[in-house]
Amino acid sequence: MSLQLVFATNNLNKLNEVQKLIPATIQLLSLKDIGCEEDIPETQPTIEGNAIQKAEYVKTNYGYDCFADDTGLEVNALNGEPGVYSARYAGPQRNADDNMNKLLHALEDQHDRSAHFKTVIALHLNGKLETFTGICEGDIIKEKRGDKGFGYDPIFQPKDYKQTFAEMDLDLKNRIGHRGKAVQLLISFLNTL
Ligand code: IMP
Repeated sequence: MSLQLVFATNNLNKLNEVQKLIPATIQLLSLKDIGCEEDIPETQPTIEGNAIQKAEYVKTNYGYDCFADDTGLEVNALNGEPGVYSARYAGPQRNADDNMNKLLHALEDQHDRSAHFKTVIALHLNGKLETFTGICEGDIIKEKRGDKGFGYDPIFQPKDYKQTFAEMDLDLKNRIGHRGKAVQLLISFLNTL
């Protein structure tokens, strides 16, 4: 089976992470490859809604079968915040350090520091929509550690591990992480076609 699929993202970190997990029979195209240089709207109130909105936008406007992901960090003591607002938690500048500092401040007096990353992948293929959800449980530590990865990685320590995501090799993060799990579900589905 040979399949051309667009991954609707402009985030090179995510593209590299997913590219390593996609079977060679699937030709992954970036938004740049299909000439899409505009900002795809992400205006839904849920992580799942945003993933679906992005995949449908590419299909409708560019005609390609496509998958899109949306990820949020849901902190239990903050009733699931920052969640769908993870990217702009500390403001429209979407700055990872600002976001982490705000979160560390919000948790200053909290005993419960448990949280999880949630990734939803929406796949638009052959006229049908499927969604795949990956969750990674862990804790928000008290200070940043590590310089790999992106986003909230330096303050997120997955359950049963001593390193933060920012101290892990990408292979390990992919194996145990939210996006890797959602991608594995996507791949299992694609392999049944
Ligand atoms: P997006 O909407 O999937 O691009 O992600 C929303 C926000 O969550 C962004 O601020 C990212 O920095 C953050 N984020 C997404 N995935 C990860 C991850 O794997 N590690 C740390 N932060 C992430």
